[in-house]
Amino acid sequence: MAGRIPEDKIDEVRSAADIVDVISAYIPLRKRGRNFLGLCPFHNEKTPSFSVSPDRQIYHCFGCGKGGNVFSFLMEYEKSSFIDVVTSLAEKYGVALPRYEEKPDAITERLLYAHKVAVEYYQANLMKPAYRDKVNAYLFEKRGLNQASIEKFQIGLATDDWQGLVEYAAKKDLKPQELTEAGLASKSDKDGKYYDRFRMRLMIPIFNITGKIIGFGGRTLKKGEQAKYVNSPETPLYNKSFVLYGLNFAKGPIREAGSMIIVEGYFDLISLVQAGIENVVAVSGTAFTPQQARLLSRFAQKAYLFFDADSAGRSAALRSVENFFNAGIDPVIVSPPAKHDPDTFVREYGATGVLRLLDEGVSYISFRFNRVDSRALSLGEKEKVAKEIQSLAAKIDDPLRRELFLSDASDRLNLPLTTLQSQRPQADAQPKTPEKVRNINIIEAEFLSLFSARPVLIESVWNEISPDDLKGPGHAAIYSRMIKTYRDTGEIVPDRMIEQVDDPVEKSGLTLIATLEWGDLDLAEVVRDYRQMLLNQKREGQIGGLREKLAAAEKKGDRTEAEKLSHEIKYLLEKRP
Ligand SMILES: [Zn+2]
Repeated sequence: MAGRIPEDKIDEVRSAADIVDVISAYIPLRKRGRNFLGLCPFHNEKTPSFSVSPDRQIYHCFGCGKGGNVFSFLMEYEKSSFIDVVTSLAEKYGVALPRYEEKPDAITERLLYAHKVAVEYYQANLMKPAYRDKVNAYLFEKRGLNQASIEKFQIGLATDDWQGLVEYAAKKDLKPQELTEAGLASKSDKDGKYYDRFRMRLMIPIFNITGKIIGFGGRTLKKGEQAKYVNSPETPLYNKSFVLYGLNFAKGPIREAGSMIIVEGYFDLISLVQAGIENVVAVSGTAFTPQQARLLSRFAQKAYLFFDADSAGRSAALRSVENFFNAGIDPVIVSPPAKHDPDTFVREYGATGVLRLLDEGVSYISFRFNRVDSRALSLGEKEKVAKEIQSLAAKIDDPLRRELFLSDASDRLNLPLTTLQSQRPQADAQPKTPEKVRNINIIEAEFLSLFSARPVLIESVWNEISPDDLKGPGHAAIYSRMIKTYRDTGEIVPDRMIEQVDDPVEKSGLTLIATLEWGDLDLAEVVRDYRQMLLNQKREGQIGGLREKLAAAEKKGDRTEAEKLSHEIKYLLEKRP
């Protein structure tokens, strides 16, 4: 590709190409706190000092001092030019770059200019006496907006002129072809003339993340009009799977609040912002895409899905709920009372009412299986629920997030965790890359490898975690061999242990453990994390087992036994962190 890539396209690529995603395709990274750590590819080192921050989307090497963003990483690593890096990332992450051979800037700039001219025209129309009554009735009376909101969101009006914008734009040196390319006009097949795309509609500008207008949503002002909303088509500026309405305003407030509210419509968002709730974005009718989830996950990890109960947007968001889990976002389902949407709700109950409603939001599992209790289910129903949970879990790539999701489901549904974990459905399972099959077995292997790095740490866990608690291949035997070796010699050396072992499973387990390195991390701290993960795992297993016994006792009508088991379960539940 010749020439420069437009600035906002570069932003779009940077937003789409998550730095952890990109770098871990080149070097193995492991999560440490909020960052990821690995061996620096730019200098020779044995202990990892190369740190990647998903929050800030940058990397930094504490060894050689190299650092930068996703683009500089690839330029340095692949020895390629900026343009090549952006182009290949755009292709990989599905960002459409404008296709032209020369002067790419000029075209994008013309499209942005067309939108600028259009918004000027639409805003001026809002003041025209002929339309004032209609506009006031809708914006002020029906929607309850104030002047400040209308200005902030740059709302305007497309009149019932057939060529109002085409003519206005001509005076501003814009060709009708350019308006057409911007999705603001179209050429008639009948007479070959150009006509405005939007007529008799309130025009709501759609901004990109940097605040430039890249499209419009048009709300009809005609009674009985079939299409309530008409939106701009996709253009070189406007890629619907990446854009979230209002994100340009909401970035800061979302970071501050640590959460975001996702609504369906423009006016839902505008009303909430007008009421002082600013951490809001709108999906505006489109399905919720993985790209949008990844983009949002950079600002906060909790999302309130605030839709009217039977809206299309709600069903769409729920159908693609794995996009949230995959991006590490915890979705909370908010249910306004019947016949309310966020817009009508906030106007009736105010910001405090909204905050209370958000507080009453429930997790996806609670929402989906509302009132489902495995004890009341038939075996067949139980199996159906378990299958649904498993198939959703199979779409969650990250093993820890998948485990957390399953343990949450097991807790809320009173289904043993082991039932949910078993048999990941084959039909849904997609071919996974090796890093994605990392699961609880790997966690155990990493746990064991800690003791070859710092043998003394084994003393801090052996009272609480016994060999039987480890379920991975050969792990129980390896752990008990490590404890014995340490007691005998004060050392744990996997290479030496490999020679003493005959069992092939144990041998290969030890070989893996011997390859894991920890560098100069604070291992005492790391071992505490792993200890906690394994204790949680153990406790959930126990709870699951007790729940099965409880179900059996209740079936038999053995009330003394049932009561005893309930107490044990309750005791374990209280120990949950
Ligand atoms: Zn380095």
